Amino acid sequence: MATILLEIATPDKGEVFAKDINMLICRSIAGELGILPKHARLLTELVPNALRIKVDGGETLLFVSGGFMEVTPDKITILADSAETPDDIDVERAKSAYKRAEDRVNAAKSKGDAAIDLGRAEAALARAKARLLVKGVPVG
Ligand code: ATP
Repeated sequence: MATILLEIATPDKGEVFAKDINMLICRSIAGELGILPKHARLLTELVPNALRIKVDGGETLLFVSGGFMEVTPDKITILADSAETPDDIDVERAKSAYKRAEDRVNAAKSKGDAAIDLGRAEAALARAKARLLVKGVPVG
């Protein structure tokens, strides 16, 4: 099966992933993308999401909080703000972040609480959701 090199790095951890893979499914500001070997060149921004990395018939999930992705026909390079494997993620912390962010989003929307920055609350909610997804914890 054809492969494409996927490299993921963060400013804090340096290289966190480098492997030949069969397919990457990720979420960019323009929507969900599926990247196969020989993909057209592309430069885009990623939103918080659970990367789905397909290799040898299996699938690995990896959280990225956002960042930039460059695609060439034989390589995908992601510079993420932060990246976490399932083992890195503290479920209780992600659940609390989820609850906190959900409350803030609801308060901003329903009560029109002007003190809350809806965009920031939604971004925090998206990070918590994606972390829980990578851990296999169902969220609403
Ligand atoms: P929190 O409100 O719990 O800090 P957050 O989404 O605001 O969550 P980030 O700004 O994305 O956190 O990340 C800050 C740092 O904390 C990063 O180094 C990130 O890897 C780490 N981090 C955040 N949440 C978790 C978690 N649930 N498990 C492990 N590390 C986490």
